[in-house]
Amino acid sequence: MNGRRIGVAGAGIVGTLLAWRLRLADRNVRVELVDTVSSERGATGASGGLVRGYDPEPRQLYLAASSLAELRASRLLRAWSCYQETGSVYLQADSGHPAALAELERLLPGSVQTRGPGEAPYLATRHAVVERHAGFISPRRLRDEVLADFVRMGGDLVHGQVGGIRAEPDGTVSWQVDGQQRRYDTGVLATGPWTPALLPGDGYRTKLIQYGVYEASGTVPAPFVDEVTGLYGRPGPGNGVLLGVPSDTYDIDPAKLRPDPALVRRTTELATRVFPGLGIAGLRHIVVAADCYTAPQGLRLRPAAEAVPHLFTFTGGSGGAAKTAIAAARQSADSLLHHLAVPA
Ligand SMILES: Cc1cc2nc3c(=O)[nH]c(=O)nc-3n(C[C@H](O)[C@H](O)[C@H](O)COP(=O)(O)OP(=O)(O)OC[C@H]3O[C@@H](n4cnc5c(N)ncnc54)[C@H](O)[C@@H]3O)c2cc1C
Repeated sequence: MNGRRIGVAGAGIVGTLLAWRLRLADRNVRVELVDTVSSERGATGASGGLVRGYDPEPRQLYLAASSLAELRASRLLRAWSCYQETGSVYLQADSGHPAALAELERLLPGSVQTRGPGEAPYLATRHAVVERHAGFISPRRLRDEVLADFVRMGGDLVHGQVGGIRAEPDGTVSWQVDGQQRRYDTGVLATGPWTPALLPGDGYRTKLIQYGVYEASGTVPAPFVDEVTGLYGRPGPGNGVLLGVPSDTYDIDPAKLRPDPALVRRTTELATRVFPGLGIAGLRHIVVAADCYTAPQGLRLRPAAEAVPHLFTFTGGSGGAAKTAIAAARQSADSLLHHLAVPA
């Protein structure tokens, strides 16, 4: 595939891991990663970085557990991501599907235990999936390190804003970067919450994600998600605790985000109820960002606009993509290289 070119727009964790995987898989393919100079603005810089294997949705479970297995097995990825293994608890109303738990055991042997109501940590009415091999990472550090390695391996990093995407008569995809046209055999938009603006009408939406970091005393919980209330969190930094609940604010402009005080109230009210032993002394700061949502959920390569045949998106579809990005990027790089080798 000498001389074939793939363009990836967006150097968040998702686009950067994809570009890096492509470069690792085939050095004969030219890979160009394009982002504005301030790639700090995306979801990756704001991410809480909780990583676990379990998810009620089978594909999400496969990608999250495979990502975590690869991260744990690689000294490099562990160091790059600042992985901290603290364990994780997923609280839910039922015991979880046995096939899901068997798959988790296959991918992360010895990690998972289940607890019934009364035995579950924190809430007497919940079932819990307790994972030993889980914790949190810094998605931003992982992105920065992978980006540096991509450049070391000869990947091309271009600074600028992608726009004016179109299909060329010769079957290539082109886009403009700050007034300059660039052409590729295949193009991928990994532009996170900016995807709906680039592909209006294609079913992509933005959604607000907000969490707070609070001063904490008493018993600070291990990283957890309570599926019933939506409350999630993890310890730190320092003697603080990170806590959040999902919002239902869609279609916001990722450049104009404001904290939602109602979400702060709901978070503290739920945290007090779910963790009676946790003292929340005050709010240190609020983090507000946006992510890209579409159906079906989960980070995957999707054909983009029908009018541009060799254009794809690679975006979350449901938030929470940091924990699935390592494996999803590997899968998607393989599909893209296959697509290049066997043109439609
Ligand atoms: C507050 C918050 C907390 C989260 N917590 C967790 C968690 O605990 N665990 C977990 O697994 N996931 C979590 N997530 C989700 C996860 O972090 C995101 O799904 C993931 O970071 C998305 O990465 P991305 O690369 O798709 O998007 P982004 O990081 O937003 O990157 C998109 C990039 O595209 C660039 N871009 C946009 N438009 C253009 C253009 N026209 N031209 C060039 N470049 C462009 C932007 O500059 C940006 O760098 C959280 C998300 C948020 C917002």
